Amino acid sequence: MQPGVTETEEERLSALYSFRILDTATEQDFDDIAELAAAICDMPISLISFVDKDRQWFKSVKGIGLRETDIASSFCKYTVASKEVFVVEDARKDLRFANNPLVTGQPNIVFYMGVPLLSEEGYALGSLCIIDQQPRQLSDYQKQSLKTLARQTMDKLELRKKLFELQDAKSEIVKLKDERYIKENEAREVIEHAPMAMALHVGRDMTIRFANSRMLQAWDKDGEVFGLPFADALPELRELDFPATMREVYDSGIPYRNEDARMSYEYQGEIREFYYTYAFTPLKTPEGKVWGLLNTALDVTEIVQSRLTVERAEEQLRLAVDSAELGTWHLDLKTNQLSLSPRSMEMFGFETTEEVSLEAAIGRIEEHYRGLVNSSIQAAIEENQPYDVEYPILSSDTKRCWVRATGKAYMVNEHGPTMFSGTLLDITERKEEDRRKNDFIGIVSHELRTPITSISGYAQVLQRKAQSLAEPAMADIARKTKQQADRMTKLINGFLDIARIGEGKIRLERSAFDMAELVKEAEDESLTTITSHEVVFKPVEFTPVEADQDKIRQVLINLINNAVKYSPPRSRIQVACVTEGNHAQVSVKDEGIGVPLKDHDRIFERFYRVENEQMKTVKGFGIGLFICKEIIELHGGQIGVESIPGQGSIFWFTLPVIIQ
Ligand code: ADP
Repeated sequence: MQPGVTETEEERLSALYSFRILDTATEQDFDDIAELAAAICDMPISLISFVDKDRQWFKSVKGIGLRETDIASSFCKYTVASKEVFVVEDARKDLRFANNPLVTGQPNIVFYMGVPLLSEEGYALGSLCIIDQQPRQLSDYQKQSLKTLARQTMDKLELRKKLFELQDAKSEIVKLKDERYIKENEAREVIEHAPMAMALHVGRDMTIRFANSRMLQAWDKDGEVFGLPFADALPELRELDFPATMREVYDSGIPYRNEDARMSYEYQGEIREFYYTYAFTPLKTPEGKVWGLLNTALDVTEIVQSRLTVERAEEQLRLAVDSAELGTWHLDLKTNQLSLSPRSMEMFGFETTEEVSLEAAIGRIEEHYRGLVNSSIQAAIEENQPYDVEYPILSSDTKRCWVRATGKAYMVNEHGPTMFSGTLLDITERKEEDRRKNDFIGIVSHELRTPITSISGYAQVLQRKAQSLAEPAMADIARKTKQQADRMTKLINGFLDIARIGEGKIRLERSAFDMAELVKEAEDESLTTITSHEVVFKPVEFTPVEADQDKIRQVLINLINNAVKYSPPRSRIQVACVTEGNHAQVSVKDEGIGVPLKDHDRIFERFYRVENEQMKTVKGFGIGLFICKEIIELHGGQIGVESIPGQGSIFWFTLPVIIQ
């Protein structure tokens, strides 16, 4: 006798839920209807009931204290199932309800009448019902009134539902608006902060819809141009060809890109030159119709201008190199590949088409200079020293060409420099000139040496004679004559050395010896010749070298003599020789006038002397250190000075030691 679940029960339930009425608070409107129903029909109990899946729930109750009961004991489900007015006149006598706990117990239902609550779509959601505890009869008027109240209830519910739907729609709109706002804002942010200038144009007149600040800056405009056709917004650019290009892109739908394009236009009141890499990208509807353009531009003015500056500088350098007839060379330190310019090839005597290795090039350098060139290359690469050497090249069996090679190692990576390059200057003529001068100095010196040696001998004889004749004044003159003659001999010897160096005629006579012995000899010599100063020799360990002993002694004596010359009497001079790594380092330390920093390199040049007050009283020609440097470098060593003016100097030189 129970009505079965209708086919549309699920739909009915979802219709019920769409009203969002279940479990809501009591409302006066609905309570008034229930009240009215009870009053019109003169009933003790009235209900507005909704039939849920497992229960019936009461929005409004009059006469009993229940808010819901389970579905099994529901009367209303019959009203809902029939969708008609459902009347039970005496439940106690009705088999469907006789055992119903609501009949046998509280509220002891006897009479029931329910009017279905039908939605606009025709679903029965529940009922408006009246109940009595005794059998009753209702007049037509009462029945009619009840139906009207049921419709009223439904109207209220429908209204409520519409209100909900309206609210939902409103908040949906707000949500969508927010989302769109966020999306638009995001897009705008991205465009605004893009590392390039960007603008959006719409329509065939390229109306500016939006431009980021970079683009506005490039145009020298502000947001006022938004909404204006391109030509009206930027009359300054009318002369340039890209408004036409933009239109072509718009009409053809084919994107356009231009790199490093030069353009000059009025910017901030003056005609300026810019370089831009720019692109016009057509924007199309899903049907493929162009509706606008994306204009992107990158200001490459600085990059292009610096590239042009470099190109110009390179061109100037090339012109300078050509007009000075300089050769250039380039050594790739990774591959050890040597590239020589045609002029360099010519100097080396190679055919311009030949592949030349570094070894082949060094092979053309006069044998005697190869060590110097190799060690200079090494110092330039390993210690980043400037490369500057002069050497003769035997470009053919008969031709000898002198060059000055300068260069620098550069492009450093974590393993050191990767490139080594520079120039070659033909200095054959200058060397010829030097040679002639040297020849002259050589001849003159040689010619002078013989008479001076004689003068020195005569003076010595004269001195002895005067002493034996007890003529002290004459003896003194003879002694001074000899002294001057000896000074002159030294000077002439120096000049001869210079002449030999200039011609590359200094030959080393190498032998293996112990530096400790050489220092000892210098000590013995100093003890007899130097009385004005305290010369201290530090003990030297066994230090084997392979060198020209006489010339190294000459260097050491020269440094000691300079220390004597340039420091006050009775001051201390310290000589030491220590081994550091593969080198022996000899140093001579004095407490003299010192050398200003700016002269540290120059004092090793030929004829260079420091110019200051203290130097005026000290005689010299500025050739001693030059000769020392030549000798040391020929040995593959180095020479230098550390000094604080007024406090003293340390002159030092190094020599490779024989590895045991
Ligand atoms: P000379 O001593 O004949 O001038 P050198 O070539 O030996 O020539 O020295 C070059 C210059 O170096 C000197 O003129 C002097 O200015 C400076 N010099 C050399 N040795 C010393 C020293 N021990 N203390 C200070 N200055 C020195």
